[in-house]
Amino acid sequence: MSHNVDVLRLTREVVAIDSVTHRSNVAVADFLQETLEGCGFEVERLEYLDREGLRKVDLVGKKGRGQGGLGFFSHCDTVPGTGWEQQAWSPEIKDGRLTGLGSCDMKGPLAATIAAGAAINANQLRNPVFIVITADEENASLGASHLVKASELFRAAPPQHGVIAEPTRMIPVYAHKGAALVTVTARGIAAHTSTDKGISSNFIIAPFLAEMAELARLTKTDSSFQNSEFQPPTLGFNMVISDDGCKPNVSASKTVCTLCFRPMPNDRSRHVLETIAAKAAQHQLEVSPWVAEPFYVSPQARIVQTALRACGLPKAETVSFCSDAVIFKDYLELVILGPGDIAQAHTVGEWVDTNQLLEATQVYGQMIQMLCAE
Ligand SMILES: [Zn+2]
Repeated sequence: MSHNVDVLRLTREVVAIDSVTHRSNVAVADFLQETLEGCGFEVERLEYLDREGLRKVDLVGKKGRGQGGLGFFSHCDTVPGTGWEQQAWSPEIKDGRLTGLGSCDMKGPLAATIAAGAAINANQLRNPVFIVITADEENASLGASHLVKASELFRAAPPQHGVIAEPTRMIPVYAHKGAALVTVTARGIAAHTSTDKGISSNFIIAPFLAEMAELARLTKTDSSFQNSEFQPPTLGFNMVISDDGCKPNVSASKTVCTLCFRPMPNDRSRHVLETIAAKAAQHQLEVSPWVAEPFYVSPQARIVQTALRACGLPKAETVSFCSDAVIFKDYLELVILGPGDIAQAHTVGEWVDTNQLLEATQVYGQMIQMLCAE
């Protein structure tokens, strides 16, 4: 039996449920689970507590028997609605745009995957269709990391191919940059400057900061740190510093420098990480790195070629943002493909093109036909 889901209506319903990353996503997960079950999916619900002790839920929906098949991957969390007035969770459709927090990144794309999966009759499927919905994508892909460890459905027989439905303006994407976050901490001794007995952690870290400025310059100017498959071809090397707003008449006890950049395939990110660690060691600073490897699949891979055929496009592209692909790429062959433009993500007044939501539903449906039903 197939089910008719109106993608615009479903997008509005999902946007209307607040699921900002730093709050529990139980409410939106309850709604999505019910929706999937109502569309003929068997649903596995995976609960965990995040670092703040909040209840988070991942969902794995599966329709059809057999091995392999096609999975659609979305996250149901959103960035905070900073700057939004009341209407962040009051979605509106006007002039071909559906506006609301998370409409583009990525509740609209998620709704399109559900609408496509709902429309297919399980009896027509030679291989199964999966709808995978994670929490905490905006928080270092914690939900995806939990899912690949905990999901029986996914671990027993993961889909052979997958679509990460992040917004790409419906252009298939075969590679994206990863993410590296390195925190470097200097410790001083706090004292009131009237005693002059303190040691400011800011002075301890200062030489290191100058070296990082030099490293940043190198990554921008030396082409060996770049990859011309990407636009921009550079690492986006950035640094922020915090001494917790230490007052000028107190010596800072702790300075934390956070370095952030976006590793690319076949680049010199390893070298950058090693340089940071070596320089930090020279100045006796504490270092704690976190790295998500970039995503890359051959543009000739079957999933990329299938996506191109379904979209009627000649060539796949690359993007600079990160996704849950950094986790799921170890389990199956992926392409990134979704409605909406990442330029609208994480903005006040976020919107998604309603025509692209309809187009995505069609394209995903065709990909199901090509990979699971023919
Ligand atoms: Zn996203």
